[in-house]
Amino acid sequence: MSRQLRNNLLNLKPTLLPDEVEPGTLKHQKVTPAFEPSPAGSDEGTALHESKPDSKTSESEVSKTNRLIDCFDGVLADLDGVVYTGPQVIDGAIDALDQLAREGKSLAYVTNNASRSPEDVATHLRELGAPATTEQVFGSALAGAVLLAGEVATGAKVLVVGSQFLADSVRAQGLVVVPTSDDRPDAVIQGFSPALCWKDLAEAAYAIAAGATWVATNVDMTLPQERGFAPGNGALVAAVAAATGKSPLVAGKPEAALFETAARHSGVDRPLVVGDRLDTDILGGNRAGMSTVLVLTGVDSVQTALGARSDERPNYLIRSLGELYEEYPAITADDGAYSCGAAVARVSGSTVRISGHEDDLNSWRAACAAWWAAHPDKTQDAAPEIVFTTAG
Ligand SMILES: [Mg+2]
Repeated sequence: MSRQLRNNLLNLKPTLLPDEVEPGTLKHQKVTPAFEPSPAGSDEGTALHESKPDSKTSESEVSKTNRLIDCFDGVLADLDGVVYTGPQVIDGAIDALDQLAREGKSLAYVTNNASRSPEDVATHLRELGAPATTEQVFGSALAGAVLLAGEVATGAKVLVVGSQFLADSVRAQGLVVVPTSDDRPDAVIQGFSPALCWKDLAEAAYAIAAGATWVATNVDMTLPQERGFAPGNGALVAAVAAATGKSPLVAGKPEAALFETAARHSGVDRPLVVGDRLDTDILGGNRAGMSTVLVLTGVDSVQTALGARSDERPNYLIRSLGELYEEYPAITADDGAYSCGAAVARVSGSTVRISGHEDDLNSWRAACAAWWAAHPDKTQDAAPEIVFTTAG
C-alpha cells in the first residue's frame, strides 16, 4: 500500500472523495482545494498546495500547535545546500538538527552521493558538528542495490560500474559481482566514482546491449567541485544510454526509492522531506507521497519555486532549518485573493500581483498559493510576471 502522508492541513476543510477511500484505513481524506478561507483571526497553518493526507493518522492526532515540525515525526534531510555549502556549515543548521533529537523526532540524511559510504558521510557530518550516525545516512548506492535486488534473482551476476562501496552494497543484497561483460552479467549497476574510465563504460554498454538489467544509482548531471561543475553520474549514464539506446532504472533522487528506503529504515511514519533543490529533493519527496519543504539556503529560490512545474512544488517554504520550529503561517483564499500574514496575492493572466514586501517570505508563500492554484497542472516550469504593490 502506498504511503500517503498527511500534511499540515489544520485549517482546511477536507473533502472526502469516495473513490479515494481505501478499505480498512482509519481515515482517508483528500483535501481539495488546498485553500479554503480561514475563520477570521485564525492563525492555523496550511500547506502551499494540495497534499495527500496520511491514511494512518486521524484528525484528532493533528498537532495542536502550529510549528511546522509538530506535524511530523521525522525529517529526511538533504546535505549540500541544507546542512552545508561546500566546506561551510550553514548558519543555524546544526542547532536545528540537534533540536530534532530533543523533541523526539527522527533524523535521516538522504544523499544522491553513491561514492562515499554512510560511514564516511556520517564522519564528515560529525566533523562539521552535526548529529550523525552511520545508520542515519542513506545514499543512492544502498537504494540502487535494493532496487536492483528487487529486479533480479538472488545470486544473480552483476557488473558494478562504480565505487567499492557500491560493489559491497550489491554483495550485501546476495548478488554476485562480476568484473566484465564476458561473464554475461544479469544486471549492470552504475554509480559515480572518480576512478571510472572509458573501459568501465564500455563493459556496461556491452552487457546492457546484450540484455542485462540496468540500474543507475542516480542521474545527477553535474558534480559540484571546487573549480566548477564536473560530469556527474547522470552524464556518464547518458554516455552509456547514447551507446545502447536504452535507459536505466534510477534509484536516487528524484525517484521515490531512496526516500522510501530512508523512511522505512528510520521507522518514520510522517516524514518531512527537507531539501534545497526542486528537481531532486522536492520532486523525489513528492513522488514518494511525502510532505516537502524547500529551504532557501541552497540552489533554488522563491522565484524558481513560484515558477516550478506542478510535481516540483513544495508544500512549504522556509528560509532556514531553524524555521522548522517556528509557527507556519496560515494561507487563506477569498475570491481569488490569497493571503499569508500581511501579504495578499492575486493572479491576473500571466501576472501575479502581490500586495506586500519582496523581502517578506509570506509574500512569496501567498504568490505560490495563488499561482499554483491558478495553474495546478503545469508540466513545464513557467514563471509568471511578478508585480509588487505597496501593502495596505
Ligand atoms: Mg542539496
